[in-house]
Amino acid sequence: SPENAPLLNVSKLEKRFGGFYALDGLSFHVSSGEILGLVGPNGSGKTTAINVISGLYAPDGGEIVLEGGSIGGVASHKLVHRGINRTFQIPKPFLSLTVRQNVEVALAYGGATDVPAMADLLEEYRLAELADRPAADLNSSQQKMLDLVRALATRPRLLLLDELAAGLNPAELDWVTERIKALAKSGMAIIVVEHLMGFIEHITDRVIVMNAGKEIFEGKLAVAVKVPQVIEVFLGG
Ligand code: ADP
Repeated sequence: SPENAPLLNVSKLEKRFGGFYALDGLSFHVSSGEILGLVGPNGSGKTTAINVISGLYAPDGGEIVLEGGSIGGVASHKLVHRGINRTFQIPKPFLSLTVRQNVEVALAYGGATDVPAMADLLEEYRLAELADRPAADLNSSQQKMLDLVRALATRPRLLLLDELAAGLNPAELDWVTERIKALAKSGMAIIVVEHLMGFIEHITDRVIVMNAGKEIFEGKLAVAVKVPQVIEVFLGG
């Protein structure tokens, strides 16, 4: 039925750097309300997939379709406007701007004019008291939360999280896991790239295991870890 149609369909996606195929025919889909994990050994193309889907890089082949419309090669600021946003493995806030200004800049980039949800988001992600401090004053966990608030402030329907959990302490990790699950429950489609398998197991509905730029498994992580080909790429990688 139409309400169950995937929000995003990626088909035979390719991305080359020089002669090297970082993405070599990657296909998968994600639906609203779903948390999909992208896992695989280092260099398998996970971050490149996020970079291409979020419009940071144009694909060299294949299709990216959001709700029936092709978005391959569309610039990231336009994709923000169409409901796709992402966080970065290493957040790079404008250090001399305040926390609040960093969110305002991100909203301006996405073409938004009002910021009704910003105060609530800063409160929810424990940044309210730091709102008027320069981003340089934040610790690394707080910088990750600022990066998440920056993305959430644009009200994405598809949120791409690149190593959001890495570097958080266990209490922060539990807390962020619950926040992300709540976002999915509210209808957001979420793609997570993460090396922490405990986190992936706990948070995802389904995973795509990647190797050498393509999918080698799609399904539950608990099943993936019993598949010889999956075990081999992790041990060999
Ligand atoms: P993963 O996230 O799975 O660790 P990446 O997507 O970061 O993998 O990288 C996949 C491959 O593409 C790696 O071999 C990496 O060196 C290469 N790569 C990624 N980004 C670039 C780039 N901007 N320029 C050149 N090579 C890149």
